[in-house]
Amino acid sequence: MNITAPIHHCGGHHFEPDHLDSTASSLFTPSGVDGVYGRTGEYESVVEALASLIGAHRPGGAEVFRFPPVMPRASLEKQGYLNSFPNLIGAVSTLVGSERDITRSAAKHENGGDWTEDLKPSDLVLAPAACYPVYPIAAARGVVPDDGYVFDVAADCFRHEPSRQVDRFQSFRMREYVRIGTPGQIRSFRDPWVERAKGIADAIGLSYRVDVANDPFFGRVGALMASQQREDALKFELLVPVRSADSPTACMSFNYHKEHFGEVWGLHNAAGDLMHTGCVAFGMDRLAVALFVTHGAKVAGWPASVRAGLNL
Ligand code: ATP
Ligand code: ZN
Repeated sequence: MNITAPIHHCGGHHFEPDHLDSTASSLFTPSGVDGVYGRTGEYESVVEALASLIGAHRPGGAEVFRFPPVMPRASLEKQGYLNSFPNLIGAVSTLVGSERDITRSAAKHENGGDWTEDLKPSDLVLAPAACYPVYPIAAARGVVPDDGYVFDVAADCFRHEPSRQVDRFQSFRMREYVRIGTPGQIRSFRDPWVERAKGIADAIGLSYRVDVANDPFFGRVGALMASQQREDALKFELLVPVRSADSPTACMSFNYHKEHFGEVWGLHNAAGDLMHTGCVAFGMDRLAVALFVTHGAKVAGWPASVRAGLNL
């Protein structure tokens, strides 16, 4: 629901909008840009508690990587992001040139001009997902071991989807467990994770349902990709009522990418099989918001069982 603008009702059961609005404004300070907020210490303590709860379920043998909020532009281009989600991209651009060039560009601002017209695209983009940097890391090692790989990754992610809704940010934290291996290995990783994730949601008192889903592929071709993805049941989401019970919010997703990343990065095992990949993604900020909306603005007032589940 809105952080600053009036609540829009669209029928069905709703959470008390006042409750929700005051929750949001007690957790976040507006930056002036929709979907970008300062976060309170109390909110961050919940994000940290969620991170350790999820960490307690880290798959055996998982290698840990924490990535910066930027990644190589070339990686994004190579993996086809421009075909699938060009609308969500945020790219880093910088002022380059001599001291004179840069001074002249910067001075345009004070002179009422537009300094941004001198910006040049850099070789970086903002990371739209936490798992993207891990596939080239695996590929650089050569042949994938027969047991495959499991990674524990996280990053601050950016998606250009400005919104005033409390569950949609432009900048948000994502944690993922990523599996690289044979189709059988991916399935026996992903399927139990759906059940494990329900257990995590139970432990922190969130109501939910798990449903088949699709990525928001861009454009008319994208609509076809989305319906194919649903038909093949490649993506599931754990949905929690945050804004309303009618349109619950995806707080975790369970994804089977088939051979997409294996093909892009040339991932093969010793037998020469093309590797498949899958990931379980946790929307850390969405989970935290879901907790505050469900249990109230003050952690001190949360049910003892929930606080115990989070060690808070
Ligand atoms: P949605 O359909 O809601 O945009 P998605 O299918 O694009 O989500 P994924 O690509 O599966 O989401 O991302 C993994 C997780 O990251 C999501 O399940 C969600 O919890 C979180 N996430 C995605 N986009 C956002 C966002 N704009 N703000 C906050 N969290 C997000
Ligand atoms: Zn992923």
